[in-house]
Amino acid sequence: MPDTDPGVAGPGPGPGAGPAPGPNPARHTGQSVAGSPVPPLAPEPDAESEGFWQGTEVGELRVQACGSCGSRRFPPLVRCAICHSVERTWRPVSGEGEVWSFVVPHPPLLPGFAEAAPYNVVVVSLAEDPTLRMVGNLVARAGGPIGEVDPATVEIGLPVRVVFTERRSPSGRRVWVPQWMRRERSR
Ligand SMILES: [Zn+2]
Repeated sequence: MPDTDPGVAGPGPGPGAGPAPGPNPARHTGQSVAGSPVPPLAPEPDAESEGFWQGTEVGELRVQACGSCGSRRFPPLVRCAICHSVERTWRPVSGEGEVWSFVVPHPPLLPGFAEAAPYNVVVVSLAEDPTLRMVGNLVARAGGPIGEVDPATVEIGLPVRVVFTERRSPSGRRVWVPQWMRRERSR
């Protein structure tokens, strides 16, 4: 997936991510994020994802909605798959969802991730529409290290809510990536 895809909130290739790439200093600098040993694999906003990042900057999780038929979609697309309209806008969602799936990556991992392992990468289905899914990490607190949650306690169906963690994009822009924390199950 491209680096600009806002669905890729969490770092690290999981099992089956393909052959391990050789050293690539341009992508893996080994720099640390404050409080985390993980390299800052942060997205670079582009024209199509800009509305998403404007939302996370103000603490709002947004999905794209068709300007014609109103259907919601994520990740963002230029054209509606239902009615083919190219009119589009961004709509806030509650930021609540459930763990739809997850993996626990183990070494061999890219530099910077090995020391965080084992950690989780979760796929969250959104409360408003379970077919809308976002990738991230389950963390114990906003901005907490990705290995802080015991992977043995992660399970499918776990109720979660979004939190936002500040990162620096490759071009140096501040971006807030969504991550996820446990929440009480609503009635
Ligand atoms: Zn449409």
